[in-house]
Amino acid sequence: MADKVNELPFFYGNITREDAEDYLRQAGMNDGLYLLRQSRNYLGGFALSVAYSRQCYHYTIEREMSGNFVIAGGKSHKTPSDIIDYHSQESDGLVCLLKKPCNRPRGMQPKVGAFEDLKEQLIREYVKQTWNLQGSALEQAIISQRPQLEKLIATTAHEKMPWFHGSISRDDSEPRLLRGSKTNGKFLIRQRDSNGSFALCLLHGGKVMHYRIDRDKTGKLSIPDGKKFDTLWQLVEHYSYKPDGLLRVLTETCPRPDGVEGPPLPEHHPSIGATGGIISKLKTIKNLGSKKLKQTQPNTYESRVVNKNKADISPEAMPMDTSVYESPYADPEELKPKTVHLERKQLVLEEGELGSGNFGKVLKGVYRMMKSEKPVAIKILKNDDNDPAVKEEMLREANVMQQLDDPYIVRMIGICEAENLMLVMELAELGPLNKFLQKNKHLSVKNITELVHQVSMGMKYLEENNFVHRDLAARNVLLVTQHYAKISDFGLSKALAAEENYYKAKTHGKWPVKWYAPECMNYFRFSSKSDVWSFGVLMWEAYSYGQKPYKGMKGSDVMQMIERGDRMEAPPDCPAEIYDIMRKCWTYKSEERPGFNIVEARLRDYYYDIAQ
Ligand code: ATP
Repeated sequence: MADKVNELPFFYGNITREDAEDYLRQAGMNDGLYLLRQSRNYLGGFALSVAYSRQCYHYTIEREMSGNFVIAGGKSHKTPSDIIDYHSQESDGLVCLLKKPCNRPRGMQPKVGAFEDLKEQLIREYVKQTWNLQGSALEQAIISQRPQLEKLIATTAHEKMPWFHGSISRDDSEPRLLRGSKTNGKFLIRQRDSNGSFALCLLHGGKVMHYRIDRDKTGKLSIPDGKKFDTLWQLVEHYSYKPDGLLRVLTETCPRPDGVEGPPLPEHHPSIGATGGIISKLKTIKNLGSKKLKQTQPNTYESRVVNKNKADISPEAMPMDTSVYESPYADPEELKPKTVHLERKQLVLEEGELGSGNFGKVLKGVYRMMKSEKPVAIKILKNDDNDPAVKEEMLREANVMQQLDDPYIVRMIGICEAENLMLVMELAELGPLNKFLQKNKHLSVKNITELVHQVSMGMKYLEENNFVHRDLAARNVLLVTQHYAKISDFGLSKALAAEENYYKAKTHGKWPVKWYAPECMNYFRFSSKSDVWSFGVLMWEAYSYGQKPYKGMKGSDVMQMIERGDRMEAPPDCPAEIYDIMRKCWTYKSEERPGFNIVEARLRDYYYDIAQ
C-alpha cells in the first residue's frame, strides 16, 4: 500500500529533484545509492533517485489504474517498495542495481507537500461525507476507489483554491492583482476557455504577466515549453518552489473577491508559509464537502447561470485572449506522438477469441517486455484480405488511439506488422458492457451509474481534445472489472482540427443508425454533440440491461420516429433523473443539446447522491 511508504526510512516525501541530489551527494554518491520521493507532477506517483558514476538518475514510478506501481515500460508491482526489492536483484533497464538506501537524517520526517496533504484530506473527507463511512469501511473504500477519487479531486479541487479565479477575462484579472499588496510574484489563475486552457497571471515589477497554461492531447497541463503536470495545484506548487522559466517564483495568492480562503502555499516558502494555516485548510475542506464537490466546472452551463448575477465573474464577457505571454520556445514534439512498433517475438497469442468483426478477430495474448509480461488484447487483421482499405482503416484506428491517454479509454500499446497486421491494446477482460449486463441482471442502478459515469468522463476527455468517436454504443464499452469501464473501438473516430466544430462525411457509410443523431443522418455531420446523442442511447442500453434499442424497428422507421419528436420510453425501473439525462441527450437540435461537460456533471451529481 502506498500509505506504508511513509514508514520507509529512505522515503523523503515531497522533496524536489535538487534536494534529492543533495541528499545523495551528502551520503557519498556511491554507485547504487538510492532514495524514494513523491512525484511532484505525476498524481499518486513516486520518483526513485539513484546515484551512479557520480551522477544522479531519476525514475518516475507511476501508479496504474489497477493500483499497482510501475516504472514506465517495466514490470508492475504492488507497492513502490516491491519495485525497490525487485531492482535490488535485477537492474532491468535501470542504470545499475539498487545497492544501498540513502536513509533520512535522524529525526527528519518525510516532507508533506501542502497540496498532496490536502488531496489526502479531501479524499478522506469526501468519502466520509458522501458515503457516510468510517473506520475500516472508509479505508477500504479509499483503497478500492482511489484512482477514481484522485481523478475527481484532481479535476475539481482547483475550483476551491484561493488562487483560482474562474472564467474571468485578462482585463478583469489585472485590477485584482494590482489591488492591495504589490508583492512581486503575487499570482492568480484564470480559466481561458472550456477546453481546459488556463492562464497564470503574475505580478512582476508592477506589471501583470500572463502565461498560457495549455492542456496537451494526453490531458497534461503546462505553460509553453514548461514542465507538464496532472493538475493545476501541482503546477502552482512547482512554480512556488522555483521560477523554472517564469520571470519569477510564485509568492503570494491574489485573493478572490468572493473571499474564499484556501490552503496555504508550501510552508517553507519565504513569503507565504505562515498565512492561512490549518484553519483555512480545514475551512477549504469543509467547503469541498459533498455538496460543494458536486459543483460543476466554473464554465459549465449551470455555473454560468448561477454566476450570472455576480458582478465580478462574467464568463460570457471573456474576450478573445490572444496577447498572452508565450515562451519563444515551442515544443514541436508534443503534437507528434509516435506509434510503438512491436516485434512479433514480443507477442504470444492465446487460443480462443475475445471477439471478431469485419476486420478479423481479437485474441487474448501476452506482451513480453524485457523482464515482465502483460496480458493484452490483439486485434488481428484477416490474412486473406486483399483489400488495402481495411488495412488503412486499422492503421487509422491505431493513429487515433495512440493520441489518447485517459483512464476511461482503452489504451493502445502498439502495432505489430508480421504475418498479419496486429493492433495491441490493453485487455478489458470482462468484455462489452451490453453482453455483461445481459448476463448480470442483478447489477444495481448504482453500479450501472458508476460505469455510465466513467464512460461520460472518457467522452468528456474526447470532447475536450476534439475527437469525435462516431460509434459510441454499449457494445463498444469494455469492462476491466464490474466497476471499471473503458471506451473502445475507434475505427470510425475522427480528430477535428482546432477550428472545426464537426466532421462532415462525404458519403453515407455502414452506420449504426439507431445510435446516430438526426444531423448525422440528414447532413452527414458528426460532432461531440452527436456523440452525446449516441451516449443517450448507450445509457438506455445500460439501464435496460443490454436490451437492443428500438427493438424490432428498421433504421428508416427509427429516423421517422425521431423526426416526429418521439423518443424511446424509459427502461423499466429506470430512475427519473437518469431518464431525464437521456432525453436531454436526444435533443433534436445539436446546438441545444448539452455537451459532455454537462452530462458528466449531472451523472456525477446523481451518482454521488445515490452512493451516499
Ligand atoms: P464493431 O464493428 O462491432 O463495432 P469491430 O469490428 O470494430 O466492432 P472491436 O469492437 O474493436 O471490433 O472488437 C470486437 C470485439 O473484440 C469486442 O466486441 C470485444 O468483445 C473484443 N475486444 C476488442 N478489444 C478488446 C480489448 N481491448 N479487451 C478485451 N476484448 C476486446
